[in-house]
Amino acid sequence: MTPERDPDCLFCQIVAGEIPATVIAEDERTIAFMDINPASRGHALVIPRAHARDVHDIDTDDLRAVAATAQTVAARVIERLGAAGVNLLNSSGAAAWQTVFHFHMHVIPRYEGDPLRLPWVPASGDMAQIAAAGEQLKP
Ligand code: 5GP
Ligand code: ZN
Repeated sequence: MTPERDPDCLFCQIVAGEIPATVIAEDERTIAFMDINPASRGHALVIPRAHARDVHDIDTDDLRAVAATAQTVAARVIERLGAAGVNLLNSSGAAAWQTVFHFHMHVIPRYEGDPLRLPWVPASGDMAQIAAAGEQLKP
């Protein structure tokens, strides 16, 4: 069965082999390939073969499969590239800085002393605001 695709989507074209990518892992539901603008050495992306825009749109079984492939790639960057850590990152929505609207999990190897920082500066929060948001998020 051919997975669902969006004819205008860059990553669907990579899945179809219509534009080149350095593929490093693949299975029935997912493929992983190197990011062309790497945040660090070995930065890779894991995507579902079936088109889905973001975390809200992706089939849950595809999301599980993406997580499993990301775990495989994360282990390889430690073993083969000598990374000391890994950031797994998904951006869903333009407000979250998503730029390619086919779900992808970034696998970003981290090296001792590398200059990358998280996109926020951790600082202690307002306890009342934290509790209020928590109340809104409970079932
Ligand atoms: P986002 O900004 O949506 O979280 O991540 C999109 C990622 O896709 C970026 O890190 C960007 O470098 C990568 N990217 C964009 N176009 C291409 C492409 O044609 N090939 C590959 N391999 N990566 C791409
Ligand atoms: Zn797509």
